[in-house]
Amino acid sequence: MVGSFLNVLVARLPLEKSVVWPSSRCFSCYRPIRLLDNIPILGYLRLRGRCRNCGAGFSARYLWVELGTGVATLALFAVEVVLNWHDVPALKVNPAVMPAFFPAAGMAMFAYHAVLLWCLIAAAVIDAEHRIIPPMIPYFGLLVGVVGGALMPWPWPNPAAAGVVTVPGAPPGAPWSLQEFWGQIPVGVQLWPFYGPTFDFAPPGSVQLGLMNSVLGALAGSLVVRAVKALFELGFGREAMGLGDADLLMMAGAFLGWQVAVLSLFVGAGAALFLKVIMLIAAGKEKEPQSSPVSGEFTDARELPFGPGLALGVVVTWFAWPWIGPGTQYLFFDGVTLVLCVVVMFGGLLAAGLLLRRPAPEPAAKV
Ligand SMILES: [Zn+2]
Repeated sequence: MVGSFLNVLVARLPLEKSVVWPSSRCFSCYRPIRLLDNIPILGYLRLRGRCRNCGAGFSARYLWVELGTGVATLALFAVEVVLNWHDVPALKVNPAVMPAFFPAAGMAMFAYHAVLLWCLIAAAVIDAEHRIIPPMIPYFGLLVGVVGGALMPWPWPNPAAAGVVTVPGAPPGAPWSLQEFWGQIPVGVQLWPFYGPTFDFAPPGSVQLGLMNSVLGALAGSLVVRAVKALFELGFGREAMGLGDADLLMMAGAFLGWQVAVLSLFVGAGAALFLKVIMLIAAGKEKEPQSSPVSGEFTDARELPFGPGLALGVVVTWFAWPWIGPGTQYLFFDGVTLVLCVVVMFGGLLAAGLLLRRPAPEPAAKV
């Protein structure tokens, strides 16, 4: 049912239509779709993707988004709550004590993260179709991300006495980058705090910490895309990314923190390449360039929008955290290393842009 609603967003948001009125209807004959025909997946399959009245064919996207959203949501629940993939200490249910798969904390975590997943799906599908990400999606996500972050501050659902360092074994004030001495940072709903040892004005488990995690995550997600875009384009000489991508990563940062947001951009670049290879294999032959009916931009069918790759990058980074986290803890919690990384990264981007620089294609000569 959520997938069905996401389909409504995908069909209407790029056209700036209302998403609540009127009810679903055929795009061809404008007759309302009957309640039973509007049942997700089954309705589409029963009518073989055609309108009951006029027989016009509906895009297969309706079926795939409904199926994909359902499967992805189920997978999120299985992985986060049932399997406790992120090894959240508070979710380790002792079957002898609590014979339930549904601890309340796990359900809250699942609900919060499901909103992010759904926003990512909607943004990726719209970007794939229209090369735009309607701002309503990332800004709605930002709002949920910040409010949820304030209500479930790191290390929630793990217990945190105010002012107490939560990394097991770390003496007060000891650098958290030294995980070989004090162990790993416990993962919460907000995966990590923005810095550690945490500051006195934002102790673990406080509303201030949750808010700062979300706001700094959103700022970092937005700024890293803008910085990479500006630097790369300075060297490359042509436009490389849209600002919709900055909004998408801003939303992800509000839910998952700045560390995940920043890494997602680079994982996302790899994911976009991967998707491009898949598309090239699937397409087989080159398609004619086509223009989007919404943005009016003339796009080449061989070029892919970055949104789907970036959304996939966020999901991959998020669920690869059991491996990425221990490998990057020394980096993210050490100020000097952090500054060095930023300098090397920005210098590398400028150099990459310059190396890839090509003259703009000459317009075809008229005969
Ligand atoms: Zn019709």
